[in-house]
Amino acid sequence: MITSIFSKSWHALMGVLLFVAACGAQPYPEQASQDEAERIVWHQVYKMKGYALPRIEWMLQPQLDCGDGVAFTVQIPFRDERGRYGTRPRCVYGIYWPHLHKTQIAWQDGATYSSTAFAHELYHAMLAWRRVPDNGDHSQPGFQPGGEVSQAIEALRAAGL
Ligand SMILES: [Zn+2]
Repeated sequence: MITSIFSKSWHALMGVLLFVAACGAQPYPEQASQDEAERIVWHQVYKMKGYALPRIEWMLQPQLDCGDGVAFTVQIPFRDERGRYGTRPRCVYGIYWPHLHKTQIAWQDGATYSSTAFAHELYHAMLAWRRVPDNGDHSQPGFQPGGEVSQAIEALRAAGL
């Protein structure tokens, strides 16, 4: 979650990306029982029934190119001390792109929903929907031990997901 470093020029870039995505939108392939996993986390725990889920792109082999093969590289935008914009690579288990309402999540062979960043990234998406400030530092109570993300992971485990 990188909202805090978005700028006007980045907004313009994301506008282009959004346009491209809208023109070429294909549904992403789903994992088994994904509807049930989404219902448990998004409807039951996060109380977001009626709000659109983000698009979920599962990152599979060979896209898992860092972190000993369990994570993937994304290009994170930043602004340097002279006010110039660029991107730098970062190795992540998942990321939520608020301006695209889309998430990318690593899924190793044999993974379960509760073992991935699924509940974590959907929480970022929920915060964005509810316009709760989220600068990516995970200081919101829901990210803390016993918070809603932990509750969502427990609910997934209880359902065998
Ligand atoms: Zn996060």
